[in-house]
Amino acid sequence: MKDCNHPACSCEVSDGEEFCSSACAAEEGESLEACECPHADCEGHDTANKQSRVEV
Ligand SMILES: [Zn+2]
Ligand SMILES: [Zn+2]
Repeated sequence: MKDCNHPACSCEVSDGEEFCSSACAAEEGESLEACECPHADCEGHDTANKQSRVEV
C-alpha cells in the first residue's frame, strides 16, 4: 500500500492508484493545503472547512 498522491492526504491507496478519491485527484495542482476526500480517518482535512461537499 502507498499513500495518496495528494500532499495533505494521509489515506492509503490500492496498487496502481495515485489518489484515494476523485476529490484528491481533482485538487491536484490547486489548493493543496487541505484534503477533501470522504475518508473520515484522513489526517489532511481542513476542519475549518467541513461544509465543503465532495462529489463522488
Ligand atoms: Zn484524504
Ligand atoms: Zn487522498
